[in-house]
Amino acid sequence: MDSVVYFDNNATTRIAPEVLAAMQPYLTELYGNPSSIHRFGSDVGRKLQQAREQVATLLGAADPLEIIFTSCGTEGDNAAIRALLEARPDKRHIVTTQVEHPAVMGLCQHLEKKGYRITWLGVDSDGMLDPKELKRALSDDTALVSIMWANNETGVVFPIKAIGEIVKARGIPLHVDAVQAAGKVALNVRGLPVDLLTISAHKFHGPKGVGALYVRRGIAFRPFLIGGHQERGRRGGTENVAGIVGMGAAAELASHHMEADETRVSELRDRLEESLLESCPNSKVNGAREKRLPNTLNLSFKYIEGEAVLVLLDQQGICASTGSACTAGSSEPSHVLRAMGVPPDWLQGAVRFSLSRYTTAEEVDFVNQNVPPIVKRLGGLSALGKIGKKNPAATAAG
Ligand code: PLP
Repeated sequence: MDSVVYFDNNATTRIAPEVLAAMQPYLTELYGNPSSIHRFGSDVGRKLQQAREQVATLLGAADPLEIIFTSCGTEGDNAAIRALLEARPDKRHIVTTQVEHPAVMGLCQHLEKKGYRITWLGVDSDGMLDPKELKRALSDDTALVSIMWANNETGVVFPIKAIGEIVKARGIPLHVDAVQAAGKVALNVRGLPVDLLTISAHKFHGPKGVGALYVRRGIAFRPFLIGGHQERGRRGGTENVAGIVGMGAAAELASHHMEADETRVSELRDRLEESLLESCPNSKVNGAREKRLPNTLNLSFKYIEGEAVLVLLDQQGICASTGSACTAGSSEPSHVLRAMGVPPDWLQGAVRFSLSRYTTAEEVDFVNQNVPPIVKRLGGLSALGKIGKKNPAATAAG
């Protein structure tokens, strides 16, 4: 293989050719401002409405006006949580989970410092949430619940309907971070007790720098970005027109391909998973296998550094990820895997492979050929492995 073999689609995806073609005129000759009165601008405004309809269809929203365009998933998450807090200023309690993306987790940690009480719901060893624990956490002081649809590291999908019913029964608003779920599994918000929901275009073959926030009709919403009257006064700022047009095109493609992609991609993922589990002794899957996104495989290799695997894979042109946040030169063990109670000798060895509509069987086979020798080589070098083999208790405690 002489080009990039890309298995990092939960980090970002390639822009679909159809999406690029749809965007191009809005980066060149169709540069009008959608808020202008003249036709050159208002034609662009109409194109934005088409994109709003395309995104509403992907989410199964009842009304395109429930869609607010944002700059990214992080903005959507921040705007949703801030808006709900502003709408209920007397309430000082937030319920979320220990496995959220930093876009929710970082904001909630910040709010905790500002005096809000946060309940951080745990997960079991499969990465699954217990709805009964959620029910016990809710109180009269709860301003909102924010829970992700699917985990970016493990792909584990939470039971959003059951969660929503519990939260709704207490009259509390629910925000869902669906950044990893959108475009991969059907969402159908219309039939769900979900009030706000965040998505981001670059996770489903749209461009970077554009996202959307679904706000159910009737939910009190105060803008996060205060300025002009764009987005019906719910988000100030001249719209990222080309980005929004691209997001609309990507949403339409995703709606169209959803079923076929789910089947094909999950078959490829399973082929990868079965082969790697068989060819790499001391490997295991992180996360509930039956309740995962179709494209995600998070594998741990015991006693091995996941980052070392990534570096050697990179030399073969294969892009994957540890899934967790890395800072210059040192990597934090994943907060998601720690919340799942993954033992220390498996924790550092996590590698996430995430596939897409464009992943081929040849690419899967290429990864299947390249990973086992790398794992074998690193296993032979690993001090952890040697200690562990002599005295398994020595590393299990570390
Ligand atoms: N939420 C989840 C679950 C994510 O995976 C990501 C990105 O990886 C985000 C939020 C943030 O999205 P963005 O990169 O568009 O800000």
